[in-house]
Amino acid sequence: MADPKPLPFDPKSLKGISEKAMMIHHDKLYAGYVKKSDEIRQKLKEKVAAVQSGQEIEGNATYSELRALKSEETFAQNGVYLHEWYFDILGGDGASEKAPELTKAITDKWGSIEVAMKYFSACAMAARGWSVLSWDIKGGRLKHYNSDSHNQGGVWGCVPIITIDCYEHAYFLDYGSDKKAYIEDFWKNLNWQVAEQLYLKARKWVL
Ligand code: FE
Repeated sequence: MADPKPLPFDPKSLKGISEKAMMIHHDKLYAGYVKKSDEIRQKLKEKVAAVQSGQEIEGNATYSELRALKSEETFAQNGVYLHEWYFDILGGDGASEKAPELTKAITDKWGSIEVAMKYFSACAMAARGWSVLSWDIKGGRLKHYNSDSHNQGGVWGCVPIITIDCYEHAYFLDYGSDKKAYIEDFWKNLNWQVAEQLYLKARKWVL
């Protein structure tokens, strides 16, 4: 069984986002995705075992147990991964100069880091689930995508670099309905050094 990864920062250290909200987010919600992802994996192993023993398994696309498992498998697994991408880049001081290569690539594409952050912030306001700056390994370039649910809107072949959780659970406890303030604080808590390392690793990969 997979274990939830610990938070890579002190949850008391964030600006604006409380320890309570972060611990619920990590210990209940994220850990819940890890658990359910594991449960689904076990059920799918049983399906594979059935095929290995010569049984036919039903794959009906209107409804079947296999359909439900395959559908929720991506929801749960993306719930795990997207939260890990998000937690990994929090706990910083928001100093973008600590990511010289990434900020250069962002500036080359969007004109300036200020313009890009304004654009990404507006995109995050427009997202119901996730807002992600990623490295597109097919195109060999930065791409930004929104998604409204863990298993909707993502593009296969893109590696997340800066991932913003835009679900209400990420901000409602501390900010009420003021999502804009949460997104402003997200940038203040961004660990650009980690984002730079992710970018440097990801950009080596062009297929
Ligand atoms: Fe979340």
